[in-house]
Amino acid sequence: MTRTADVVIIGGGVNGLACAYNLAKRGMQNIVVLERGYIGIGATGRCGAGIRQQWGLEENIILARESVRIFEQLSDEIGFNIFFRQGGYLILIFDEEEYQLVSKTIPLQNDLGVPTKMLTPGEIGDFVPGVNLDGLLGGAYCPTDGTAYPYAVLWGYGEAAKRRGVDIRVKTEVLSVSHHRDSGYEVVTADDTFRTPRIVNVAGAYTKNIAAMLGIDIPTQPHRHEIAVTESLKSFLEPMIISITKGFYFSQSLRGEIVGGIGDDNETPSFSTDSSPDFLFRYAASLRQTLPALGNVRIIRQWAGLYDMSPDARPIIGTVDDIEGYYHACGFSGHGFMLSPVVSQLLSELITTGSTSLPIDSLNLRRFSQGDLVKDPYVVG
Ligand SMILES: Cc1cc2nc3c(=O)[nH]c(=O)nc-3n(C[C@H](O)[C@H](O)[C@H](O)COP(=O)(O)OP(=O)(O)OC[C@H]3O[C@@H](n4cnc5c(N)ncnc54)[C@H](O)[C@@H]3O)c2cc1C
Repeated sequence: MTRTADVVIIGGGVNGLACAYNLAKRGMQNIVVLERGYIGIGATGRCGAGIRQQWGLEENIILARESVRIFEQLSDEIGFNIFFRQGGYLILIFDEEEYQLVSKTIPLQNDLGVPTKMLTPGEIGDFVPGVNLDGLLGGAYCPTDGTAYPYAVLWGYGEAAKRRGVDIRVKTEVLSVSHHRDSGYEVVTADDTFRTPRIVNVAGAYTKNIAAMLGIDIPTQPHRHEIAVTESLKSFLEPMIISITKGFYFSQSLRGEIVGGIGDDNETPSFSTDSSPDFLFRYAASLRQTLPALGNVRIIRQWAGLYDMSPDARPIIGTVDDIEGYYHACGFSGHGFMLSPVVSQLLSELITTGSTSLPIDSLNLRRFSQGDLVKDPYVVG
C-alpha cells in the first residue's frame, strides 16, 4: 500500500524512538518509525548503559552534560522508570601521560559545570573495596555520571511516542529509499511504500547503508564490541569503573551483576555480532587484575553489538548539504546511548525550526571532506 507521512524515521533504536518522541512533543504529526527487527535488537539493547560527562572535547562535555540533565528528569517526563542511577564514573589512571591529560582536562570539565575531581590511590582504595592499587596513579571521579537501563529507555521513549500518536512498526525493514525532486522521499518496505517530505536516518551501524541508497557517502565502519555479565553479587560497587588506556569498563547493575567489556585493537570492521572466547579471557583477566576478589565470580552470559565508528570517533549529526529533507545521526562509537537524549532533542529542533539550541555544526558530515578532524582523547575501546 502507498502511505504518506510527515516524517519517516529509519531505525527503532534509542535515537529513533527518542527523536520520534521529541518530534511529537514539538507538535509534529504523522510520524512513522520503521524498525526491521524488534525494539532493542541494535546497539542500544546490547550496550553497557554507561552515561558519562568526562570527555576531553568541550563539544562532547556539553552534549553529555545536557543529556545528563535530561536523564535526571526523564522518568518523570515520559512516565516510565528508566532506572537512571548516578553512581558516578571512576576513570582509573595507570599512565603518566594520561594523568597529565586528565589533570589538565578536569578544570575544563569543572568550568562547564561537570563536577569531576581527581582521587588519590588511597581515596580510591577507600571508595572501591578490594581494588588493586598496584601501578595506579590516581583516578578521575565525577559523581553525577551514571547508568540507566537501556531497554527501559527504549520502552519509555517508545511508549511516550505512541501516546502522542507516533506509528512504530517493528519487523519492518526499509528495503530502499529514493528521493524525487517533486514528490519527496519514497521509502519502500515489504508491505508498504511511504511518501514523505523528510526522513531521519538513525539506523545505527546500518545508517551508512541507508545513506548509500541516496548517494550519500558516510565514512563510518561497523566494529564488533563484546560485553559480558556475571552472576549477581551483593551490592558493593557504586561507580562505573573504566580505563581509557587499557580499554575496559564495568559497573554493577541494580540486580548485582558486574556488566562490562574491553575493546580489541585487532578487531577489523565487520557486521559480526558473534561472541568469542578470546574476549572472555581478556576481559576476565582485566577484571581480575583490577578487582582480584572477582576472580572466583562466574560469568553467566556474553554477547556482542556494533560500534558505528566514524574516522574521528565523533558522532555525525544533522543535515547533508544540498539534500533537502534528509537528517541523520550516526558514528557514535561507544557513546551513542549517553548522548541520545540531547541528540534526539537537537535533531527534532533542527527538523521543526531549522536551527538548534546548541551548536552541532562541527559534527556535520562535511567535516570529513574539509579534513577538519579532531579525536577526543577520552574515547575508550
Ligand atoms: C557492547 C556495546 C557497549 C556499549 N556501551 C555503551 C555505553 O556504555 N554508553 C553509551 O553511551 N553507548 C554505548 N554503546 C554505544 C551505543 O549502544 C550506541 O551508540 C547507541 O545505542 C546507538 O543508538 P542508535 O539508535 O543510533 O542505533 P541502534 O540502537 O543500533 O538502532 C538502530 C536500529 O536501526 C535498525 N535498522 C537498521 N537497518 C534498518 C533498515 N534497513 N530498516 C529498518 N530498521 C533498520 C536496527 O535494527 C536497529 O534497531 C555501546 C555499544 C555496544 C555495542
